[in-house]
Amino acid sequence: MKKRVLTGDRPTGPLHLGHYVGTIINRVKLQKEYETFIIIADVQALTTNFEHPELLKNDVFQVAVDNLACGVDPNISSIFIQSMIPEIAELTVYYSMLVSVNLLSHNPTIKTEAKQYNFEKSMPYGFLGYPVSQAADITFCKANLVPVGEDQLPHIELTRKIVRKFNQLYGEVLVEPEPLLSHMPRLPGLDGGAKMSKSLGNCIYLGDSKEVVEKKIKRAVTDPKRIHPTDLGHPEVCTVFTYHKAFNQNDYLEIEHSCREGKIGCVACKEKLISVINQFLEPIRERRKYYEERKKEVMEILYEGTKKAKKIAEETLEEVRAAIKIDYFK
Ligand code: ATP
Ligand code: MG
Repeated sequence: MKKRVLTGDRPTGPLHLGHYVGTIINRVKLQKEYETFIIIADVQALTTNFEHPELLKNDVFQVAVDNLACGVDPNISSIFIQSMIPEIAELTVYYSMLVSVNLLSHNPTIKTEAKQYNFEKSMPYGFLGYPVSQAADITFCKANLVPVGEDQLPHIELTRKIVRKFNQLYGEVLVEPEPLLSHMPRLPGLDGGAKMSKSLGNCIYLGDSKEVVEKKIKRAVTDPKRIHPTDLGHPEVCTVFTYHKAFNQNDYLEIEHSCREGKIGCVACKEKLISVINQFLEPIRERRKYYEERKKEVMEILYEGTKKAKKIAEETLEEVRAAIKIDYFK
């Protein structure tokens, strides 16, 4: 039997370069070797966007289109919608008994995001608990490997803890997953912020036009100490250089050298990046257009993916309920 991959995104807007280089690249690479499940985590989106459920439908569609446009093959990978699998919610409840509130409130990603959403004084219970629900996302299909960005590492660690505790208490039912990071596990934002993030508006989206990409890169933050093109640069603090490193594998070492020597200015460096990113995005834009015009086909892909994931969830939950003795009428 093939090992399994589970990974996915929150439908809080279209996907960006950070998603591609942080996780999608590995989804596409591994999908032949692993049985792959891609979750569109709509319930998790509600943990921060609960006031705007009207946005979900379109965002679910956009996230599906982005994954397909990047090369996720619906004939071998299953893309599914979290809320359509109530077994995940049930599993979340069982897991919630195995985790302390204290542990959740010390999770560094929860802390950063709570600040971002002004949840520090009044933390929604569902938001604090989303890593528990994520443990259910990962384990209902007994995933072995979870390709994620760096911000997700504390959550995978929590999943591993829950699995160990569950198996120890109730018997070996669950599989302990491993995280998988890419060569660029955290792409910074155009504003120089630590993370390109849908919710921070500092992104180059996979569907951005040539013109938009050009405009965004021209405004991107670079090494603040560099005024003239001949000043010696510090690529390690430059967002534009990090993008070269992520997407321009052939030339980034040369660019690093020229920048340090003051032989390439920021304007020329940005021009190179604009061309690299636009070349990279062109086929993705084309495939996006294809799927955007075929909404019915995309919804069928989601329907089939959800059906397959649901069957596996039902099987796992039978085992889970038996293990915790919630099987009265058997
Ligand atoms: P939101 O701000 O709404 O949470 P997001 O941009 O963080 O959106 P998610 O849907 O939460 O996106 O994340 C989906 C996956 O993409 C996760 O594995 C996450 O680690 C990864 N990811 C997101 N942003 C980046 C980034 N800038 N660099 C690397 N990986 C990223
Ligand atoms: Mg996120």
